[in-house]
Amino acid sequence: MIGKLSSKEGVVNVLVSWLPLEDNWYARILDENLTILSLYETGDILLANHIKLENFVIKNILKLSAIYCYCGNSLSTKAYGLAHDQIRKCLFDMNYDKSDIVFNTNSAQLCSECDANFDRVNLPEDFKKNLKKDLKKLKKDFFYRVYDFVQTKPKISIVIATIFALFINILSNYLYEIIMGRANLPIFLVSPFVVIWNYFT
Ligand SMILES: [Zn+2]
Repeated sequence: MIGKLSSKEGVVNVLVSWLPLEDNWYARILDENLTILSLYETGDILLANHIKLENFVIKNILKLSAIYCYCGNSLSTKAYGLAHDQIRKCLFDMNYDKSDIVFNTNSAQLCSECDANFDRVNLPEDFKKNLKKDLKKLKKDFFYRVYDFVQTKPKISIVIATIFALFINILSNYLYEIIMGRANLPIFLVSPFVVIWNYFT
């Protein structure tokens, strides 16, 4: 699979492969406009954690675009210096252990150190702002976000589920009273249907 990262100055080719890379890295800059991304092992890690493979590819394309701008409109191995060993859920976490990719594939951010690094170079206007906005869009599916929330915050989940069950119970009792003619529908529930009915008749 081949993708292209375009800019005014040129095009960067991104090769995506399932094959292992040298030294078991998952991404390599091959020359100033060619890079390769491997899903060998990383693909299995992502799928086991319900993370979409396309999010991983998009995140790395965003990372490459940041590197491209940082290095003066080319890809350079000097960009490896941007990476840090600490896990900060940052776009430039080293992820020396491949399993760490689960921490910065979805909703990655720029840590304060990386943010400061990018302040030292000339970037296109709003580049950082747009980069952060695009990173935030990389999320798990709603179902798996709820699944993760329940797993990490079981007590809060029980409270929310209890409140929700009570609300459904009250609502269903109220609807039953309306059906039996012992209560009226509140006007704020009726009015949207009246407007729609008037619009189509
Ligand atoms: Zn960072």
